[in-house]
Amino acid sequence: MAEIVIIGCGGVASVAIQKCAKKADVFSEICIASRTISKCDALKEKLEGTTEAKITTAKVDADNVEELIALLKKEKPKAVLNLALPYQDLTIMDACLACGVDYIDTANYEAEDTEDPEWRAAYEKRCKEAGFTAYFDYSWQWAYRERFEKAGITALLGSGFDPGVTSVFSAYALKHYFDEIHRIDILDCNGGDHGYPFATNFNPEINLREVSANGSYWENGHWVETKPMEIKREYDFAQVGKKDMYLLHHEEIESLAKNIPGIQRIRFFMTFGQSYLTHMKCLENVGMLRTDPVVFEGREIVPIQFLKTLLPDPASLGPRTVGKTNIGCIFTGVKDGKEKSVYIYNVCDHQECYRELGSQAISYTTGVPAMIGAMLVMKGTWKRAGVFNVEEFDPDPFMEALNEYGLPWVVEENPVLVD
Ligand code: NDP
Repeated sequence: MAEIVIIGCGGVASVAIQKCAKKADVFSEICIASRTISKCDALKEKLEGTTEAKITTAKVDADNVEELIALLKKEKPKAVLNLALPYQDLTIMDACLACGVDYIDTANYEAEDTEDPEWRAAYEKRCKEAGFTAYFDYSWQWAYRERFEKAGITALLGSGFDPGVTSVFSAYALKHYFDEIHRIDILDCNGGDHGYPFATNFNPEINLREVSANGSYWENGHWVETKPMEIKREYDFAQVGKKDMYLLHHEEIESLAKNIPGIQRIRFFMTFGQSYLTHMKCLENVGMLRTDPVVFEGREIVPIQFLKTLLPDPASLGPRTVGKTNIGCIFTGVKDGKEKSVYIYNVCDHQECYRELGSQAISYTTGVPAMIGAMLVMKGTWKRAGVFNVEEFDPDPFMEALNEYGLPWVVEENPVLVD
């Protein structure tokens, strides 16, 4: 029996699990379940003697619904926190539905094989109708809404940093600072340096697929698509300094466009150094970012998965990464008939994260909100039957928890805007 089953035991999960273990009054029994059980056992061993929570481990293939159902029937948890990969979102949601268990994740569904004909047909229809070509979108998970409502269980989507904290910042700004928000610029700055010429700070496959795709933003009720890295701006980030940032498609734009009434434009920018961009372009040009199988010496391999085995494991970057992240949102809109702008952001120090939990700041800034989302669902604070994005709930308890569990935020009035 477990209060919560946490699926995945990578960079983000390791932070979330350690944070849950510190909060044993809510997470009294934690089952860590993943594909490679040795990673789960190693984390359990690290936690033993430091927590009052009872920790167990299990091996599960989260692509297999029957295996997941068997695990949930055995553990009978209140909730499942999905920190595996976006490929597993739907199978885990299916298992939660079958067992009447609440569901929380940090990333929206993405197909692993983008050449699969059935998926491809649905994708191409969506590209035409919605007007953006990213491989990931919320339609797959939003389609579960009625089934979750009928089952009386909650699915909380996107409880990481972006999506997640940036979405909660938006709900908080709307609740406390604006009558109407017209523009949101989400700025994701990683000022960290790990000393490698090229490495990704979360799962390489997911990261490279996201970054090498077309950019897009929401304007006046529709998507505007750009070429990858076509729109570049410079911004002077508090505690980090001046950085180049590029417009990307990002999943919270899709849900915020639905959930923030009166919104006129939403853009997402992420900082990248020149070395990262040059390496990525080269890998793309030679076919190493391909997600479909190719035959090599008589067996099939997927180039991007092979590349992942060559790159540094993001979880290993912790000891060598120095510097800070600064992630937040600039809002412009009106309050009492007057135009105003507000910037809400968090600054997180890679080395402080490493000292606290042995991880770098990207895993930390995702793992902490994942724990907070799970805690709010399990305590009943954020509990409604259906499928919800985080900005659909009252932001205040989440914002308080960010301050309490390691991600304090700052509100700056009249910030420098991005043109
Ligand atoms: P990692 O690759 O470090 O970890 C993924 C974990 O999932 C690994 O333990 C892996 O097992 C496990 N896993 C993969 N496939 C399966 C499967 N079929 N069955 C069971 N377990 C499986 O990724 P990260 O920790 O960097 O990222 C985790 C999630 O967080 C991703 O969905 C990512 O998109 C999301 N994310 C969200 C962010 C946000 O701000 N919202 C930011 C960063 C990440 P194994 O050890 O065997 O490989």
